[in-house]
Amino acid sequence: MRIGIDLGGTKIEAIALAPDGREIGRLRRPTPRQDYEGTVSAIVEMVREIELSAGHSGTVGVGIPGTVSRRTGLVMNANSVWLIGRPLESDLAAALNRPVRMSNDANCFAVSEAADGAATGASVVFGVILGTGVGGGIVLHGRPLEGANGIAGEWGHNPLPDAGRYGEPPVTCWCGRLGCIESYLSGPAFAADHKRTSGKELPPPEIVAAAMAGERAARFSLERYVDRLALSLGTVVNLLDPDIIVLGGGMSEVDALYREVPSRLTKYVFVDRLAMRLVRAKHGPASGVRGAAWLWPESDPR
Ligand SMILES: [Zn+2]
Repeated sequence: MRIGIDLGGTKIEAIALAPDGREIGRLRRPTPRQDYEGTVSAIVEMVREIELSAGHSGTVGVGIPGTVSRRTGLVMNANSVWLIGRPLESDLAAALNRPVRMSNDANCFAVSEAADGAATGASVVFGVILGTGVGGGIVLHGRPLEGANGIAGEWGHNPLPDAGRYGEPPVTCWCGRLGCIESYLSGPAFAADHKRTSGKELPPPEIVAAAMAGERAARFSLERYVDRLALSLGTVVNLLDPDIIVLGGGMSEVDALYREVPSRLTKYVFVDRLAMRLVRAKHGPASGVRGAAWLWPESDPR
């Protein structure tokens, strides 16, 4: 059995997967905010509870909204600030008396889709979350690529290629850098871009619906979004050349992306014909917790 934990800022989710990926148990608890020891205990209790009801023990993988430094073993870059600088992985391993694997939540998303989702069987997978933020994760042969600094795949904070091609003012990202991809491709960024050009304040699904109905300003907003996504993914393709790119998050619901981004992409990459697929995530919001469980991909987990 594989147990996955998705440690979020407001809730902790636990899932138990049978060896074939079937869900056999699920729990949800509020996150003890600002309380590191409480967070550790909550996770330990959830693992024990899920094992008690399943009748046997499992491997434990944990997805966190941050990264674990491979050098120090400490949590970094977490928006749940009470985790920062803490040895969460080793504390959980000690409390649970077994090795624990921990990864960034965007990596878990990509792992989940590579294990038994939209990218099943692909060797090189790039998973992208286009939500309120923009995250990315790389999976090579079923395992997440962490990188020397634990930031492999954090493409959302690269600069948008050719920023300014639509005359837009440079946008400062919350991370302090100028013109990050996230500042143009997140859901809120899409809405802000539409407001800047049309004067209309609409949530992303309504902008997309208006574009589909032929409304001119909305059509241009969606076209800019498609072009920026293609430009941004072009850099990923040239560097990583993945077999498949999986999109998750709210903006991944936009059907037009799968029709229009691949043909645009060929303009921005170093080949004429692209042997790569762009697909929508299969597991949706469950990808994070499922991917945490799949951090132990071994075919016979204990
Ligand atoms: Zn940024």
